[in-house]
Amino acid sequence: MLFVILFQTYAFMNLSSSLLNWYKINKRELPWRDTGNPYQIWLSEIILQQTRIDQGVGYFQRIYQRFPDIRSLASASEDEVLSLWQGLGYYSRARNLHHTAKIISADYEGVFPSDYHELKKLKGIGSYTAAAIASIAFNIPVAAIDGNVSRVISRLFAIETPIDITSTRKIIESLADEILDTRQPGDFNQAMMDLGSMICKPTNPLCDQCPLFDFCLARAKKIEHLLPVKSKKIKQRKRYLHFFLLTYMQNDTQFLFVEKRKDNDIWKNLYQLPLAETDSPEIPEQLPLPKEAISLLKSKGFHPEIAGKPATYKHQLSHQILEASFYKIILPQEYCFIFEQYFKKVSLEEFENMGKPVLISRYIAGHITGLSETNQ
Ligand code: SF4
Repeated sequence: MLFVILFQTYAFMNLSSSLLNWYKINKRELPWRDTGNPYQIWLSEIILQQTRIDQGVGYFQRIYQRFPDIRSLASASEDEVLSLWQGLGYYSRARNLHHTAKIISADYEGVFPSDYHELKKLKGIGSYTAAAIASIAFNIPVAAIDGNVSRVISRLFAIETPIDITSTRKIIESLADEILDTRQPGDFNQAMMDLGSMICKPTNPLCDQCPLFDFCLARAKKIEHLLPVKSKKIKQRKRYLHFFLLTYMQNDTQFLFVEKRKDNDIWKNLYQLPLAETDSPEIPEQLPLPKEAISLLKSKGFHPEIAGKPATYKHQLSHQILEASFYKIILPQEYCFIFEQYFKKVSLEEFENMGKPVLISRYIAGHITGLSETNQ
């Protein structure tokens, strides 16, 4: 028994030194690398959840430049944080980031907690992010397991049960702890992430370039392309969103009406054009206004006419497929007071600087070039 344990320890030390040697030469150059600053590590990890590295780097630089420390982020308005986040999607990350910055500023005197369990109590920081911050910034020996690392471990140990069930997750966690290099946990965790992203890719892993080639059971059994096994198929919900660009000119300025999303749904607290959501792609019969407003408009002889062809975009989220249609309606100025009771009136320029879903930004960028156009 003692011999088995010694052999295993020796094998894991070799695995670690092969991985860390590879990492020294091949690690990705990223603006938050080679720092022990927990704020930068946290910011980068939150941005990189659900975001490709090449896209995340630009956002990291912009947000870090505007908020170089936790206190500056904490004292910003949520609207400004959401506006900087625009285009990254999964906006709950930005809201949690802002919320947690305020908590750290107020309750921790602006200093990041170094304890893994304390980090996990903060909003938006789960096991993976807490482990990444604790190991990279504070050298705490805890394994950071994201999708990339799970895949590498499932292949290294040829785990053939589905990785998305609890029992397999526990096995992966325990193996990740076993192989973790406790002397350099931050580098080891980052090396595993880089290996998963650059070499042990989801399809066609580059085994002949892999520093763990000699340790890998899936490669030895020639089953690497079959792993990891997944059990669940994500159910996708289809949603039809009908946005109305209600707009008019006043003193050479173009105005439009917008609303803030309040519900616990996608894009919470972002601004959008007035929306009607339905079960079909057909254009709704009424504007998204209460009945009394519709009646009032009718009694005044106003009948909305759509200017030009509606624009339609498809947008895929992890659990939802969105089909968004946009209808432009040019409002006679005398009726605008009715819309002002239900929506916020903003100039086009103001709206461009407000946090909004990327779908709406795309529509605005491509379709607002003046009120006179009728066929876009
Ligand atoms: S040898 Fe291949 S399957 Fe195994 S860890 Fe390396 S890249 Fe992944």
